[in-house]
Amino acid sequence: MKLWYRVPRLWLMALLLLLGSSAWAVVPLAVDSMGHAATPLTSYLEVLEDKDATLRIDDFRDESVPHRFSAASVKGDALGYGYSASAYWLRFQLSNEGTADADRILEIAYALLAEVDVYAGFPDVIQHWRGGYATGFQTSEPGRFMAFRMRVPAGEKVWVYLRVKTPNSMNLPLRLWTPQGYQAHAVQDVALQATYFGMVVVIVVYNFLLLLSLRDVSYFLYLIFAVNVALALANFSGIGPSYLWGEAPHWTKVGVNVPAALASVAMLLLTQHMLETRHRSTLMHAALWGLIAANAVLGMLLLGWFERFNPLFVTVSMLTSVVILIAGLQAAWQGQRGAYFFVVAFASLFLANILTHLRNFGILPTNLLTRDGIQIGSIIEMLLLSLALADRFNVTRKEKILAQRKAIEAQAALVRGLKESERTLEAKVKERTELLEISNQKLEALTLTDPLTGVANRRHFEKVFHEECRRAVRMGQPLVVGMVDVDWFKNYNDRYGHTAGDACLRKVATAMKQCLRRPGDFLARYGGEEFVFITPATEVAKGLKQASLLIERVSALGIDHEASPLGHVTVSIGVVCTMPGDRFEELVDMADAALYHAKSEGRNRVGLAEVAPFQRKDDLWS
Ligand code: GH3
Ligand code: MG
Ligand code: MG
Repeated sequence: MKLWYRVPRLWLMALLLLLGSSAWAVVPLAVDSMGHAATPLTSYLEVLEDKDATLRIDDFRDESVPHRFSAASVKGDALGYGYSASAYWLRFQLSNEGTADADRILEIAYALLAEVDVYAGFPDVIQHWRGGYATGFQTSEPGRFMAFRMRVPAGEKVWVYLRVKTPNSMNLPLRLWTPQGYQAHAVQDVALQATYFGMVVVIVVYNFLLLLSLRDVSYFLYLIFAVNVALALANFSGIGPSYLWGEAPHWTKVGVNVPAALASVAMLLLTQHMLETRHRSTLMHAALWGLIAANAVLGMLLLGWFERFNPLFVTVSMLTSVVILIAGLQAAWQGQRGAYFFVVAFASLFLANILTHLRNFGILPTNLLTRDGIQIGSIIEMLLLSLALADRFNVTRKEKILAQRKAIEAQAALVRGLKESERTLEAKVKERTELLEISNQKLEALTLTDPLTGVANRRHFEKVFHEECRRAVRMGQPLVVGMVDVDWFKNYNDRYGHTAGDACLRKVATAMKQCLRRPGDFLARYGGEEFVFITPATEVAKGLKQASLLIERVSALGIDHEASPLGHVTVSIGVVCTMPGDRFEELVDMADAALYHAKSEGRNRVGLAEVAPFQRKDDLWS
């Protein structure tokens, strides 16, 4: 409400300025006809610039001095003289044409005034207050700015003189209030400020938590920026000196621009980071570095030599705003998505900052925009920038997820490929192993088989014989071993030839093999025209019977043998049957002996060996 009624006023002021009406006559302000709204004192003020800052209030009692005052040139709701080493004297006259004494409150709505002396009731009953951050706060009213309560007796006119001196920008927004009007305003005003700083605290804490969880340097820079803007504005708005840190002359003096310098450094770094100026524009990147250095150096110099370096800093600060805005526009022009947020966010602060500086220089009038704009601008900026960061984080996260997905896909493909080749390899290995097994089996079979007759060879016999002997011992069963020899075979060869001899051996072997049918029965070629057979778990009688059967079978083959007295091919067999505990190692010799006996008896018959007595050798079977 209060804000809106000023807007037409602003235009009116501008119009008056245009009409060149700055030199109108200064009249007293009739306090009895004031409402509860603030009455700006600008148009009631006379000003005297005291260049050496040497004048005292008593100097004005001299009749010759008052002539040096002149009507103030109007700058909206405040007088503005930029940065000045002079002391400024202001005076205005209050008249009370009513019938009751009137209390009025003079408010100087600007926090960065170092020395303020107010003399009310001049020249008779002088009330004197000292205010300003460098001289202590002698403010008689609550609120964020200096406010002094003065009385205008009924029917009287009162002069009020002010002396102001400050190294900061000389802004003099002087307003007069009724006590009720002021109290209502002060409560609302502080509440609004509290709202602003509350928002800032929320934003800062929120982004601090984001920083903790995201660990992104942008949030760190953003926090530095936000905290410093808040500090600068706490000082600038009077909330800091009035409610937070109290009387701190040096801090209040530098407390706007030093944090502003730090905020600029953070903002410039954030600009480089968010807009990726390094890859986008070398010139812009370098310019930003230059400003970072300038702001950092000036920020430090302000701490020691505020008056000397402040004007330069203000220029650099405005340049910083312009360059950051250009960087944002450039990146937006180049189509960077984050830059749109950035530009919109920054433009609001940029505008407010420029407006504030122009007011501080005394170029623009003090009004809603130039006084409170920076706070509104900074809140908008902080919120939008926070959004921009969130957006940027989202974009990077999406890119990251995409990259991760691709990496996972690639990995999956790799794993698939590896598995595939592993499968192929396994299949090949299996195939080869099977082939190897087959050929091993073949090889084994070959090494155990007699190539001529197809029955087991002597090597195989040794193995089986050994196993059968052990089993016989284990099971306590008898074992029969038979030694077979083809009769008159040398003669057969001589008569029919070696090849026929071979064929004969095959037939004999095959016939005997067919005869040995029981599981465990075993036939091998022992060497030359000699064979050996084993029948496990066989008694001596059965062994003899088996041998006779073999002889009959061979004989039954009816292979002609003219060189034999018998006329056909026959075999002789020596059989030995043994029980567990016998000397197995001698069985073959015993069978051989029995065979010799059969031969000598006339051939084509069985010879039986005498069973050897028990003579077990432990080492043989172990
Ligand atoms: P006996 O009745 O006393 O056993 O008389 P034999 O002639 O069979 O005995 P001898 O040991 O004197 O002769 C064995 C012959 O067997 C000698 C050799 O020519 C023949 N012979 C040995 N191995 C083979 C072979 O692999 N093939 C052929 N064709 N003959 C063989
Ligand atoms: Mg022989
Ligand atoms: Mg023979």
